[in-house]
Amino acid sequence: MFRNFKMVSQVVFGRGCFNQLDEILSFQRVKSSSFVVFLVDHVFENSEFKSRIPAHDQDMIIWADTDDEPKTSYVDKLVEKVKSFSSDLPAGVVGIGGGSAMDLAKAVSLMLANPGSAADYQGWDLIKKPAVWHAAVPTLSGTGAEVSRTTVLTGPQKKLGINSDYTVFDQIVLDPELIAGVPKEQWFYTGMDCYIHCVESLQGTFLNAFSQSYGEKSMDLCREVFLQDPSDSADKLMMASYFGGMSIAYSQVGICHALSYGLSFVLGLHHGIGNSVAFDYLEEYYPEGVREFRQMMEKHEIMLPRNLVSGLSDEKLEKMIDVALVLSPLWENALGKDWAEIMTRDKIRQLYQRM
Ligand code: NAD
Ligand code: ZN
Repeated sequence: MFRNFKMVSQVVFGRGCFNQLDEILSFQRVKSSSFVVFLVDHVFENSEFKSRIPAHDQDMIIWADTDDEPKTSYVDKLVEKVKSFSSDLPAGVVGIGGGSAMDLAKAVSLMLANPGSAADYQGWDLIKKPAVWHAAVPTLSGTGAEVSRTTVLTGPQKKLGINSDYTVFDQIVLDPELIAGVPKEQWFYTGMDCYIHCVESLQGTFLNAFSQSYGEKSMDLCREVFLQDPSDSADKLMMASYFGGMSIAYSQVGICHALSYGLSFVLGLHHGIGNSVAFDYLEEYYPEGVREFRQMMEKHEIMLPRNLVSGLSDEKLEKMIDVALVLSPLWENALGKDWAEIMTRDKIRQLYQRM
C-alpha cells in the first residue's frame, strides 16, 4: 500500500505576509462571536511583535511555555483552559513560534475535538475526529513541523508524536522576517535539525524520487545558508525547512533522530541540540554528512556540550535505550529490514556512552 498523505491546504510566503493573517482568519470567523486562540511562544510576551498579533476583543492569547518541549500533560492543561474560556469551540487555533509552539497548536486543535488525554493518541492514526481549523506561523526554521503530519509530545511513558492526517495544518504563514531575530545558537541547532532530516532521508532505505527531490533541494539550501551566508539566508532557511519536512513525509528520519529522542526523554535536551550532539558521533553511518556538519559548526563557532551521559545511572541509560529502540521505522530506514541484528542494545549503549 502507498501512503495517500495529506498536505497543508494553504500556504502564504513572503517578507511581511504576516500582516495578512487577520484577513486570512476573517474567513474562519463565521459568527460575530467566533473566537480565535493564538498560542504564542512566551519569548514574545514582552516584545514589540506582541502588538502585531491580530487578536480581536473576543480572542484568546495563550503565552506558551516552551522551556520544556511539549508534554501531553501540558497539552491537556491548555485544552482545559480553552474549554473554560468558552463553551463553543474556537474558529481556529494559531500557533506562533518554533517547533514547540507549532506542535502545541496542532495538539490543542486535535484534543479540542477528541475526548481523553493527548497521551491516548501518541502513535499512528489513533485520532478519529477532525481537529479544529489550525494554522502555523513559524518564527524559527528547521523542524519542518509546519508541514509534517505529526505533533511530537513527551508523555508519561514515551516521546512519540500524534501522527494523523488531521494533525496537518490547514494554513501556514511563512514570513522570513519573523525568523530574523533568533539567537545564533538556536538558529544553528534548529537549522541542523533540517540538515539532518536531509541526510537521514537521502541515505535511508525508504528513499524514493518524491523524497529525494525535496531532500536534495533542501540540502542545497542548507549548504548555502550554513556555509555561504547568502543575503536572503532567512528566506532560504524557511524553504529548506519546508522541503526537508516534505522529504521525510514520504520517507523517514534515521539513527540520529532515534538517539536524540532518548537524550531528550531522559535528559530533557531539546530536539535541535540533541540531534547535533548525537550526529557528531555518527561518522560511521553518515560519513559525508557528519564531516560537512563539522564544517558548519566551525564556521559558526558552535561548541557542543560534552560528557552528558557518562555520569548517568544504569537505570536512566537503559531507559534512554528503550526510548530509542521503540522507533523501529527510523532504524529500518537507516539500516534496512535486519536493523535489529546490527543495532543491538550494546551498540546503542556504546554510542550513548560517548556523548
Ligand atoms: P523551540 O520551538 O523549542 O524553540 C526554542 C527556543 O527558541 C525557545 O526558547 C523559544 O522561545 C525560542 N524562539 C522561538 N522563536 C524565536 C524567535 N523568533 N526569536 C527568539 N527566540 C525564539 O525550537 P525548535 O527547534 O523550532 O523546535 C523543537 C521542537 O519541535 C521539539 O519539541 C521537537 O520535538 C519538535 N519537532 C517537531 C517536528 C514535527 O514534525 N512536528 C519535527 C521536528 C521537531
Ligand atoms: Zn528533527
